[in-house]
Amino acid sequence: MHPYDPPLRLILDSDALVANWRWLGAQGGAPAGAAIKANGYGLGAREVVARLADAGCRDFFVATWGEALAVGDLPHAASLAVLHGVRAADMAVALASRARPVLVSAEMVARWKAAAPERPCDVMVDTGMNRLGLSIEEARSGLLDGLKVDTLMSHLACADEVGHALNAVQLARFAELRGAIAAQRYSLANSAGICLGADYGFDLTRPGLALYGGIPRAEAEGHIAPVARVEAEILQVRDVPAGETVGYGATFTANRPTRIAILNLGYADGYFRAFAGRGAARIGDRVLPLAGRVSMDLIAVDLGDADLGAGDWLEIDHDLPAAAAATGMSQYELLTGLGSRYQRVWK
Ligand SMILES: *Cc1c(COP(=O)(O)O)cnc(C)c1O
Repeated sequence: MHPYDPPLRLILDSDALVANWRWLGAQGGAPAGAAIKANGYGLGAREVVARLADAGCRDFFVATWGEALAVGDLPHAASLAVLHGVRAADMAVALASRARPVLVSAEMVARWKAAAPERPCDVMVDTGMNRLGLSIEEARSGLLDGLKVDTLMSHLACADEVGHALNAVQLARFAELRGAIAAQRYSLANSAGICLGADYGFDLTRPGLALYGGIPRAEAEGHIAPVARVEAEILQVRDVPAGETVGYGATFTANRPTRIAILNLGYADGYFRAFAGRGAARIGDRVLPLAGRVSMDLIAVDLGDADLGAGDWLEIDHDLPAAAAATGMSQYELLTGLGSRYQRVWK
């Protein structure tokens, strides 16, 4: 809870979150978990867990033990996996936690075997991304003997690239691994991987982006609903005479007497400078274009003849695919950039 009502807020749609999760489960041909790293992609990990666990989601994924601690106690039936595994410095926290590490290197496998071989763990195998994970040879070398592997996983490098040949290569490598390495479950697909078809689903999928309204591939259009709406309060309305400029760098010049609203939102809130010249606020179906640059904590919009004043709220255009296309940023950056100054209001 905020101690006061901040002048910017995210309106978050619980029903859309749950509906997205259900669609991903149906589409993926396997139960969907939920990647909740980076504070639930900026929306609030605890609130996301509460809603998805209620709906029946049983598997959650964070990146680090700090994130695991921040999520707090999960509902009893749910489990949490820590995607970056266990460094030596993480072991005390890991051993005191119910969460499973996702072991990503031979060194981590040895560390977990020495400390807690009876405790379930997950294992990441690299099938072509060359980011985190054991090599296929390491995984098949007997290194994992004596571990209780809950979920064996791999991660797709190009699932959101249409027609990329690496997807089928990784799928074939992973299917072969399933025959060679014993685990309770096998998991390959993220949001975009789910869109590639049910043969990518195995026993469990790990969507993140699409839960939160991101559209990873065209197959998700019309099925995945937006979850977050950005709203900011007008702090001041000013009349700018023709010929005057607005904001840093004086990049906007009023070509007529112009009413400008100053809104409490800026790049420190993940409303990036790339929105300059492209972004807009909205009231009803009226579009109020941004005027000039994005400041750290403020933007200006051209009110036209809209009758608005200080204390009124405006919705900010933040449709993820459109905003990504306009700014050249990814939908992931646009979501995870949403900072700590918003009041997050779940409906
Ligand atoms: C972040 C992450 C996911 C979720 O990916 P999205 O593209 O957001 O669906 C799944 N698996 C792993 C290993 C990840 O790091």
